[in-house]
Amino acid sequence: MNSVLDTDWMAEGNCAERPPSLFFPSDGVGVEVAKRVCADCPVKARCLDYALDNRIDHGVWGGTSERERRRLLKARAERPLTVG
Ligand code: SF4
Repeated sequence: MNSVLDTDWMAEGNCAERPPSLFFPSDGVGVEVAKRVCADCPVKARCLDYALDNRIDHGVWGGTSERERRRLLKARAERPLTVG
């Protein structure tokens, strides 16, 4: 699990050299543009985990939209705990 303090991976992301505003779009077209940058990002999985673990509501993270992450969090909460 990633913590709030574990952000070293961000420097390796496809977005490191792009304006942050690209990942906080105001419409669906902007979301798709950002998701295209995320598509082959080498730290995509870590980015998504970070956003989910830290309940980040806004922006595109790990190739997911705000709505998609809400769905993932809901599915995670509903998943039964396995013991042993
Ligand atoms: S998955 Fe997207 S938002 Fe996350 S580090 Fe990569 S390019 Fe940036």
